Amino acid sequence: MTTFDLEPLVRPNIRRLVPYRCARDDYDQGILLDANENAIGPLAGGGDLNRYPDPRQDVLRRAIAHVRGCRLEQIFCGVGSDEAIDLLIRIFCVPGQDAIIITPPTYGMYKVAAHVNDVAVREWLLTPDFHLDLSNVPRPASGVPLLFLCSPNNPTGNALRREDMEQVIAEFPGIVVVDEAYIDFTDQGSFVADLDRFPNLVVLQTFSKSYGLAGIRLGLAFASEAIIDYMLRVKAPYNVNSLSAETALEALTETAALQSTIALILSERARVETALRALPAVRKVHPSDANFLLAVVDDAYRVYKTMADRGVVIRYRGDQPHCADGLRITIGTPDENDRMLTLLTEITA
Ligand code: PMP
Repeated sequence: MTTFDLEPLVRPNIRRLVPYRCARDDYDQGILLDANENAIGPLAGGGDLNRYPDPRQDVLRRAIAHVRGCRLEQIFCGVGSDEAIDLLIRIFCVPGQDAIIITPPTYGMYKVAAHVNDVAVREWLLTPDFHLDLSNVPRPASGVPLLFLCSPNNPTGNALRREDMEQVIAEFPGIVVVDEAYIDFTDQGSFVADLDRFPNLVVLQTFSKSYGLAGIRLGLAFASEAIIDYMLRVKAPYNVNSLSAETALEALTETAALQSTIALILSERARVETALRALPAVRKVHPSDANFLLAVVDDAYRVYKTMADRGVVIRYRGDQPHCADGLRITIGTPDENDRMLTLLTEITA
């Protein structure tokens, strides 16, 4: 993208928005009687939980900037990446008028978030081997401000080719969102390093996967300062709670633990993949750059139901394009993986 003008892509009412001003925007030191908090103290949890959290999460953003190699101003912290997905649709798409583009088979929330906001969804199918179909790159004239790419992709597991993604980002006349929820499980480099090259790029990451913190609901968007500024203006004032921010901050210092968790998941992924391939009922196991495998299994729906009835819950994805008889299996602990494999072997014998 040679010239890029963000403003025309932003919904007119959002461009005009006068954001809510938090009590702490002007002063945050001294005797704080400005926010109708309970100064006597928290009834549980201790510390300063009686106080509202920092609306901009600057301490956390500074730590993330350090770890992920970008500037604090290029980071948005949200209640899971699901909040960022919803916000991006609300900022860029006019309800009842605009559409987003998604690349099925892919993560289901892009479509749901679009529909919640009365935004249409156009499907640009991946090829049967789950890569971008460059013979058919969408070039909408107008009314399609957002395109979602997911790499590594859910539910297929593979990373998209970097050069394909770069071409799409460079040519698309709108914002391209690259969802990197599973980026720590692949060798492919993050697009966070490319933010200054691509002003129309938003990268999503999350604490839910490699950091093992799905329970704290903390997701990240990385983008130009101008895009992040719109996200901060539109979000709920105190979206990220103090307990989640504190936990995330602590996790960011656990560099060695992060590496060993990832290493264990990757070695288990390789072991489970080999074991699955040895089963006669398993017709294919797609190569994975994520913490799950997509396997093609005879009679997949029955296998899925039977496994769930017997205590091992995996995900049936056979209803997605190019995924007939597809089962998505998350890599668990070594013991959980053994139990999954034993049951699958028994059921499909
Ligand atoms: N993006 C993708 C591709 C995912 O698979 C998921 C979770 N399944 C999410 C985003 C949601 O992440 P979070 O927990 O941060 O909302």
